[in-house]
Amino acid sequence: MKTSRRNFVKTLGAAAVAVSLPGPVTSKAPGIITPKSGRLKLSFWKYNLKLRHTFTVAEYSRNSTPDVLCKIEYEGYTGYGEASLPPYLGETQDSVVKFLSKVDLSQFNDPFRREEILDYVANIAEHNRAAKASVDIALHDLVGKMLNQPLYRIWGLSKEKTPYTSFTIGIDKPDVVKMKTKEAAGFRVLKVKLGRGNDKEMINAVRSVTDVPLYVDVNQGWTDRKKALDMIYWLKEQGVIFVEQPLPKERIDDMAWLTAHSPLPTMADEAFQRLPDVARFKDVYSGINIKLMKSTGLFEAKKMITVARALDMKVMMGCMTETSCAVSAAAQLSPLVDWADLDGNLLITNDVYEGVKVVDGKLVLNDLPGIGIKPV
Ligand code: MG
Repeated sequence: MKTSRRNFVKTLGAAAVAVSLPGPVTSKAPGIITPKSGRLKLSFWKYNLKLRHTFTVAEYSRNSTPDVLCKIEYEGYTGYGEASLPPYLGETQDSVVKFLSKVDLSQFNDPFRREEILDYVANIAEHNRAAKASVDIALHDLVGKMLNQPLYRIWGLSKEKTPYTSFTIGIDKPDVVKMKTKEAAGFRVLKVKLGRGNDKEMINAVRSVTDVPLYVDVNQGWTDRKKALDMIYWLKEQGVIFVEQPLPKERIDDMAWLTAHSPLPTMADEAFQRLPDVARFKDVYSGINIKLMKSTGLFEAKKMITVARALDMKVMMGCMTETSCAVSAAAQLSPLVDWADLDGNLLITNDVYEGVKVVDGKLVLNDLPGIGIKPV
């Protein structure tokens, strides 16, 4: 009995030795990334986006978009961010630089404390949404790179669920519209800008070239709700899927009436900015167009999607004219939305990053960590 017990203990000991000697160690066990002595370092620079075509919507035309690019560095990792500044949103390169100059990230030594860091940034000054978005995007990129995973994976999303993206056709004369529509032959859905009095001419020009589904963006260009409703009925017959910002953003009651009667979903864009707007627009619009430059970045955009879903509202992800930096960041969330209009990087000729691709009209996420970009 004694012997067999000793043999048993001996056997156990041998087993323990066998387990503890598995051969050469080939990989480190995963561990928690702990904050080191390093500090977060923010830097930023102005950049002008050159537009492929003169961009015309209901309110204005332009050939370039001012932009500010930024990066956050920490312990050998670099996260990239961007603030795109189309004139109608009210921020400028100077206002962004002024805001970012006040952001002192050197007080933080742990980029994983996103809640705390972004709360600090949010409270530096009111407004400055695009400037705040640039920090938010860079911080998300940084954390993704430290974890060596794309954000969509960190969030538990399936990359196959990215939607098709629309390509935008601006307001122009019929022959130009036809040419642009032909150029966009690779897209499975187009977004047509309306609201300058030639709506049927615009749609007819597009329809003379293609029969793909259309999104329509009126950019607040219609004023009469009954005429708007008639037009929406006509648009439905032309294969339009939804109508974005048909009336001026202040016209809440008229908009609620239009949404209640409309045969197509109505989407809030100019009227919709921040998280509290989502619940406020339940029954005013069918859904919301989320853009990182309005939402102050990914952190709030993700919350917006959650709230909109709880309220049974439609969600689309949009963008400004942007480099592949901000567009790729938005694309990381796109498996969660109904519709995407993430063509901003395709509208410029001087992109400085490579990121999300459009293949056969669909957004295709890569496996690069963070927001999925590399400088070119
Ligand atoms: Mg819009």
